[in-house]
Amino acid sequence: MSLRVDVAVVGAGAFGAWTAWHLRRARLTVALVEAQGPGHSRASSGGETRVIRMGYGSHEIYTRWSVRSLELWKGLAERAHDRLFHETGVLWMARESDPLTVSTAQTLKRVGVAHERLDRAELERRWPQIDFGPIPWAIYEPGSGVLMARRAVQRVVADAIASGVLYVRAAVAPPALRGRLHTIDASGRPIAAETFVFACGPWLPLLFPEALGGRIFTTRQEVFYFGTRPGDLSFAPPAMPVWIDFLDQFYALPDLEGKGLKFGLDRHGPPIDVDRDDRLISPETFAVIRDLVGQRLPALRDAPIVGTEVCAYENTSNGDFVIDRHPDAPNVWLVGGGSGHGFKHGPAVGEHVAGRLRGDSETEPRFSLATKSSEKRRVIF
Ligand SMILES: Cc1cc2nc3c(=O)[nH]c(=O)nc-3n(C[C@H](O)[C@H](O)[C@H](O)COP(=O)(O)OP(=O)(O)OC[C@H]3O[C@@H](n4cnc5c(N)ncnc54)[C@H](O)[C@@H]3O)c2cc1C
Repeated sequence: MSLRVDVAVVGAGAFGAWTAWHLRRARLTVALVEAQGPGHSRASSGGETRVIRMGYGSHEIYTRWSVRSLELWKGLAERAHDRLFHETGVLWMARESDPLTVSTAQTLKRVGVAHERLDRAELERRWPQIDFGPIPWAIYEPGSGVLMARRAVQRVVADAIASGVLYVRAAVAPPALRGRLHTIDASGRPIAAETFVFACGPWLPLLFPEALGGRIFTTRQEVFYFGTRPGDLSFAPPAMPVWIDFLDQFYALPDLEGKGLKFGLDRHGPPIDVDRDDRLISPETFAVIRDLVGQRLPALRDAPIVGTEVCAYENTSNGDFVIDRHPDAPNVWLVGGGSGHGFKHGPAVGEHVAGRLRGDSETEPRFSLATKSSEKRRVIF
C-alpha cells in the first residue's frame, strides 16, 4: 500500500529522529523510515553514552546549539520519566599554550555558559584519582555531562510516534535523482512526499555516492569500559566528571549505570565498512588505551575490560555538519556528517532542518555541501 506524507525522513538516528519530531511539531505529516531500529548497534547513535559539552573553541554556533539541545534533551527525559542525562560536569584538559581551550573559555563567557578555570593545584585537590600529567590547567563546565545515547534516541522516536509521526521499519533503496523526487522505495513499499530528508549517518555516502562520495570519511572508532573495584565510588559521579584531552585526542566518561569507566580515542581510526565489518576491537587500539589509562588513572592500570563498542564516525573534511539540498533534486535534503561530535546536537539540528524546510531558518554557509572538500582538514573538535 502506498503512503503519502508531507515529509519522509529516512534514518532514525539522533539527527533524523529529532528532525521528524520537530517537523511533526510544525504540524506536518511525517513518515520516519528506519532500516534497523533507532540506536541499533551499527548506527553512529548506537553507543551506550555520548558527551554533551558546550565548549567548541571559537565556533559559537555549536556552543549555542549545545545549550539549546540540552534544554530539549532534558525536556524529553522529563516526559519519558527516564534519566537520559547525567549532569556529571565536563573537564577540558588544557596545555600551557592552548589556543583551542583559551578560545573555548572566551566563547563560553560570551554566550553565558557557567564554567570555571582551574589551576593544577585545584585539579589535584578535586580529583585526586586522576594523574594530570602534562596538564597545567583546565576548564570545567559543571552543567554539562552525559546522554544515555541509545536509549535517548529510542525515546525521541517513541515521543515522535506519540505525537503522530508514522514510523516505518524498512530499508530505503538509493533513489534515482533526476529533478524533483516524488517517491522512495521503502523495502518495496512506495512512500510519496513533498520533501525527503536523508539523515542516514555513515550510510549517507553509500546512498549518494556522486554527491557525497569522497566527502564523508567513515572511520572505525573503538571504546573501552574498565571495571572498577567493588564498592569504589571514585570513578562514578559525583566523584568523576567527563574529561577530554583534545591535544592527545582521548576522552573518559565516568562509570554510569554500572557499565564501567569509558575510555575512547577521538583521533580518527581506519576506514570501516559499516554493513560488513565485525565490531571487534583491535589489539593496537587496546594497547594505546591501556597505556593511557595506566598513566592518567593509576588505580585502573590493571583493571579488567568489562565491555567494548566499535562505532563509526562519519567525518566531513573539517568536522562541520552537512545540512543542504541535494544538488540534483531541490526537494531532497542531506543531513549528516556528525563527525564524532553530532549526537548532542540532534535536537538543534532537527530544529534547524525543520526551519529550513519551512523557510524560516537562516541558511548557515558552514553546513553547505560546497564547503565540504575531499581533503581532510579538521577544524571542529
Ligand atoms: C565512538 C563514538 C563516540 C562518539 N561520541 C560522541 C559524543 O561524546 N558526543 C557527541 O555529541 N557525539 C558523539 N559521537 C558522534 C555521534 O554519535 C554521531 O555524530 C551521531 O550519532 C550521528 O547521528 P546520525 O543520526 O547522523 O547517524 P546514525 O545514528 O548512524 O543514524 C542513521 C540511521 O539511518 C539509518 N539508515 C541508513 N540507511 C538507511 C536506509 N537506506 N533506509 C533506512 N534507514 C537507513 C541507519 O540504520 C541509522 O539508524 C560519537 C560517535 C562515535 C562513533
